Amino acid sequence: MQIEVLTIGTELLLGFTLDSNGAEIARSLANVGVRVVRRTSVGDRGEEIRDAIRDALGRTGAVITTGGLGPTHDDVTKNAVADLFSAPLEFDADVWQALVDRFAKLGRVPAESNRVQAQVPRGATVLPNRWGTAPGLWLEGAAGLAVLLPGVPREMRKLLGHEVVPRLVARAGGPRRVIRSVVVRTTGIPESTLAERLGDVDERVAPLTLAYLPGYDGVDLRLTAWALPPDEADGRLRAGAELLWARAGDHAYGEDDADLAAVVLAAARSRGLRIAVAESCTGGLIGKRLTDTPGSSEVFAGGVIAYDDRLKTGALGVPEALLRAHGAVSEEVARAMAVGGAERFGVELAVSVTGIAGPAGGTEAKPVGTVWLATALRDEVEAVRVMLPGSRAEIRARAAQAALSLLRRRLR
Ligand code: AMP
Ligand code: MG
Repeated sequence: MQIEVLTIGTELLLGFTLDSNGAEIARSLANVGVRVVRRTSVGDRGEEIRDAIRDALGRTGAVITTGGLGPTHDDVTKNAVADLFSAPLEFDADVWQALVDRFAKLGRVPAESNRVQAQVPRGATVLPNRWGTAPGLWLEGAAGLAVLLPGVPREMRKLLGHEVVPRLVARAGGPRRVIRSVVVRTTGIPESTLAERLGDVDERVAPLTLAYLPGYDGVDLRLTAWALPPDEADGRLRAGAELLWARAGDHAYGEDDADLAAVVLAAARSRGLRIAVAESCTGGLIGKRLTDTPGSSEVFAGGVIAYDDRLKTGALGVPEALLRAHGAVSEEVARAMAVGGAERFGVELAVSVTGIAGPAGGTEAKPVGTVWLATALRDEVEAVRVMLPGSRAEIRARAAQAALSLLRRRLR
C-alpha cells in the first residue's frame, strides 16, 4: 500500500517547528509495509489544505494529515476535508462528552471554542484520543482514504500506534509485508572513495536498495528492504550488511545507531586497557564522547584540555623547545602530548589532538582544518595528520571522531 503524508501548520513553513510528525509516521508505517511516497507541508489555510489533500488522494488514494484539529480559528483541517468529501460537519455528543470528562479530571470545564473539536464530518470514524482533546478522524469515501491526526507529537504518536496502524494492517489484508532498514556506519573515508570500494554492491543486494548518508561522523550506508515478508527482509538485510562490512573493510565500525566511542570503550575493556585523552582543539569533546557512554569509568581514566602551550608543557611534559621548533600543531607535539598523557595519567593508551579549528589562525603551511592526532599504546606511538573541512564546530566534531577512529585502530 502507498500513502502520502501531509503535515499542516504555518509554523512548519516558517521553520519554527521541525516536521517530526512526518518522519515519525514514515518510520511507523514502513514497519507494516505501508510506503510513504510523498511528504508535503502546508500552512493553516483551508484552501491549500483542501488542494493538498485532493492532490494526494489523486495520486495514491490515501493520505494521513497531522495538525489543524485544535479549537482555534487557525485549525481548519476538518472543514477542508468536509468540503472535499462532501461530508458536512455534525456535532457528535459522544466526542463532546469525552472532552467534558477529560476536562473534569483536570478540574476544568471546556471553553465554548472547544465545541468545534466535537464536530465530526458525516460518516467519519472517530479515533478516540485519550492523550489530548482532539480526536483523530478516519474518512473513507469515493475520493479515497483520509486519516486526520492532531499535530501535538505525543498525541499523534499514540493515535498512530493505537488506532491507525492496526486499521491500515487490517485494510491491507494478505500476508504481512514490511519495509525495514539496516545501517552500516563507516568513518574516515569520503563518500566517493567508499562508493568505489563498494563496487557493484547495488546490483548484488537487489531488490534491497542502498543509500549513502554522509555526516560529520562519516558515511552511513543504509540498506532497505521494501515490502518483503518479514523473514525474507531480515535474511536479505543480514546478507547485504555482511557484504557492506566486507567491502568497507576497516572503515566500518558498527550498525544502526552504534557510537564509535562505545565501540572504542568495548575494545579497550576486552583488552584490559585504560584510556586517557590529551586534547587541544577539541576542547574536551573526546572526553565527552567517551563519558556519554554508561560504564565508561571502567576504561576511561580522564585527561587534560591542554589548550594553552603552557599546559602542554606543564600538564603533559611537552618540551618547550619542541613547541618552539615545530609549533603546537605538529606531528612532534602531537606525539609528545600522547606520550605525556599516557605517562602522567598512568594508563596504557592515550590519544592526543592538536589542530587549527579556525576561522582564524590558519597559515599557508597549516591551513584551517589541519589536525594532528597521535596515540601512545605503551611504547608505540603513531601519529597522523588529517585535513578536515567545514566550520569550526564541524572541524572540532570531525577531529573528535578521527581521534576515536585512531583509538579503535590501535585496539584491533
Ligand atoms: P495543532 O494540532 O496544529 O494545533 O498543533 C499543535 C502543536 O503540535 C503545534 O504547536 C506544534 O508545536 C506541534 N506540531 C504540529 N505539527 C507538527 C509536526 N508536523 N511536527 C512536529 N510538531 C508539530
Ligand atoms: Mg496548528
